[in-house]
This record gives sequence, structure tokens and C-alpha cells, in this order.
Amino acid sequence: TTQRETPGFTNSRQYREYAVRHLANGVSSTPRTAQLPVPVAMDRALDAILTDVDGNDYIDYTMGYGPLILGHNPPEVVAALKAEIDKGFRTASVHRGEGRLAELIAETVPCGEISSFVSTGTEAVQLALRIARAATGRTRIIKFRANYHGWFDSVHVANAPGNDGPGSGGQDPKASENITVVDWGDAAALEKVISSDYAAVILEAAAVNAGCFAPPEGFLQAVRDLTRKHGVVLIFDEVITGYRLALGGAQEMFGVTPDIAVLGKAIGAGMPISAVTGSRAVMEALVDGRVMHRGTFNGNPLSVSAAIACVERLQRDGAEIYPRMTAQAAAIQAHINAEAAALDLDVCANGVGSAVQIFTGVRQMANIADLAKADRSRIVRLTEMLMMNGLMPLPRGLMYLSAAHTDGDIEATMHALSKGLHAYATL
Ligand code: PMP
Repeated sequence: TTQRETPGFTNSRQYREYAVRHLANGVSSTPRTAQLPVPVAMDRALDAILTDVDGNDYIDYTMGYGPLILGHNPPEVVAALKAEIDKGFRTASVHRGEGRLAELIAETVPCGEISSFVSTGTEAVQLALRIARAATGRTRIIKFRANYHGWFDSVHVANAPGNDGPGSGGQDPKASENITVVDWGDAAALEKVISSDYAAVILEAAAVNAGCFAPPEGFLQAVRDLTRKHGVVLIFDEVITGYRLALGGAQEMFGVTPDIAVLGKAIGAGMPISAVTGSRAVMEALVDGRVMHRGTFNGNPLSVSAAIACVERLQRDGAEIYPRMTAQAAAIQAHINAEAAALDLDVCANGVGSAVQIFTGVRQMANIADLAKADRSRIVRLTEMLMMNGLMPLPRGLMYLSAAHTDGDIEATMHALSKGLHAYATL
């Protein structure tokens, strides 16, 4: 590996000054402002490498905040997009791709009998909740603490550790009146509140947003049993975990099948597409027209063509891709924990499948109840030090692997992690 100069951010700084003049806060999604020393503007990318407007290269672990499961510019996805563009831009018309993508989901996702497409995970969650309400004739929903289900008013509550309230100013408090919040991983707590008043239980089957927690032994099965007992629709929010933890997502990895899964991010390899997929029985509420589902860009041919190419590749090569990404993530996690221990740092890493979460202010993260002990205010300084050494995690310390990360990338990552943690130790 080559010696790395301290990167300069002159062009990123200049761009930010320019952008904030007319672009709200200089970004299009609030978390992107968190990055230190400045929100870095990216110029181009290839495979696992991201290059910023100052010419700095990074081994990318944001992977588009999850979607880029095949890396940047995967050839089969680029070819599919080019072929679609050559046929002329179309949207909002029936096309053969959407049926094929739904068939691929049925072949790969255990609950995926009937599917419908939207553009974002936020929208897909709303559609899933609407289907659950229409299917049951009930209104109330159970969600879990520190699980994130998009930014719309009803579910945008209790989505960060230590905050049970709304995640944003300007939310309609009435919109979340029918949401009950329960501790994730605690089946006994769910059992206490669940009843036949509820339309749905929605959860991240693996709590990636909270900090890459695998479900405690028996938790998902208990949730499955309780929802079935009370006739409540079980929704897995697999926006992150779908096509990432395994070809069939968290439901395949942990062997529990929900009634509905929300898919997003990785299914589209970076193009905006999300899906609601579920059993024919529950999805009947959409099929028969009780549920209204609209959207100009739903199932647009460009996004669908990318998703078909992505899922076909994962179907073909997943047996090789998933174990390799998981092993790479585990190696990164182990290296962070070993270096943190060697440096006597209050830092540790957690992981599930191809995702790793770094924590500051805490030496061990045994389970989700330990989240309260972490000091989130320092993670951005740590990720800044990693960035200075050529790695690009999410500012909040989440790292995603992709099929494009090579053994050489991982070796370089290990050196950079050591140097970054050293730099953090001397802050
Ligand atoms: N659900 C989960 C579990 C997510 O992680 C996200 C996005 N991070 C969403 C829903 C919302 O998806 P989107 O950003 O595409 O609206």
C-alpha cells in the first residue's frame, strides 16, 4: 500500500459555500451534513473506490448508504441501463420488466409471492402499512425502539436510541397516535401489548440502523407466533437487509417468514426502486383494489432494468458473494475490536452479515440494551480519522461491504483502520 498524504478538501469546501446559497443546508438528505471536516463532494466511483472533487480516493464503505451491493458501476447493471436508455425513456406505462422483477423476487425471497413497486423505502413502508390495515380492518401499528422505517410522520418516532418522540420538527403528532413502541429484541414486552386491536407489527429483523444487531435467539420466531395468534400482519422492513444479508434477506438468514417484506436499497444496485412483497393472502387487499397505490415513477423501466440485472447476478453468484462479504465484514469487525483493545480505546464494533457498526464511548456492545452506554457524539471524529486515512464509512460509523471489495481492498482497509484508530487515540 502507498503512503497517503493528508487529503485536502479545498474543492469540497468551495462547493459547499456555493451550494448553501440556494440548496437547503447544501445537501439533499440531512445526515449528509454530519461529515467532518466538511461534507465531502464526490466526483466519480468505480468498483469499491470513491473519488472526491479534490481527487482523494477512498475505499468506500457507504456503498450509497447500502444500495450498491455490487459496487459502483457493476458492468451488468450499466449494460442493462444503457440498453433501456436506447429504447427511449418511458415511465408510467406497463412494461415487461416489472413482471419479470416480481418473478425474480418470488424466486428469491421466502415471503415474496406478490410484489408491487415504488421508488423509495419510505414509500414502500407506507404502502405495506396501508395493505396491513386494509387486510385486517384495523388501524394500530406496533414498531420497535431504534428501528427506522423512513421519514414519514406516522413511523418517524422512536427511531434513534434515547428518543421516543418524533424524529423531526414539523411532524403531525396525530399521525403517530396509532403507533405503539416496544423494545426491540424483547418478546415478553411485545406479548404484553399485542392484541387483536393491531393491524401490523413492523420491525427490522436485524437491527442494522440501531447498530448491526442480529436478532436475539428465538425473538423473530416469538414475534411470528404472537402476530399469528392475534391475526396481526407481520412486516419485516428489509430495506437494508433484503438482498444484503442473504439472497432471501434476513428472513432467509434467520429462518422466519413474515407476511410482508419491504425491500429497497440493494434490490436496485443504486437505482431508486423499492418493493412491497408478501403472501397472496395479505397482498390480496392490493390486488383486489381495496388499497389504492399510485406513483408516476413506480416501476419505472430504468430502475426495474437495473434491479433485474442485480438480482439475476446475485441469484447466479450469491453462493460466492454472500459468504465472502460476510467474512470480510467479520474480519473488519475483529480488527477494529483488536486494535481498540490494544490502544485501550473506548471503541468497539458490532456486525451482522455484510454490515459493521463502530461505536465510541463503549468497549463492548453485548446487545441492544447497551446502546444507551455509547457516546454518539464522538463517532463522527472517529470516522473523520478513518476518512483521513482513505476509508469512507457513514459518518455515524456504519460500514457496508459489497461484491466489489477485493482482498486487496480489505488488506489496505486493515492498515487504514489501524492508522485511523491511532489518530483517534491521539485526538
Ligand atoms: N427502512 C429502513 C430499515 C431503512 O434503513 C431506510 C433507509 N435508511 C428506510 C426504510 C427508508 O428508505 P428510503 O431512504 O429509501 O426512503
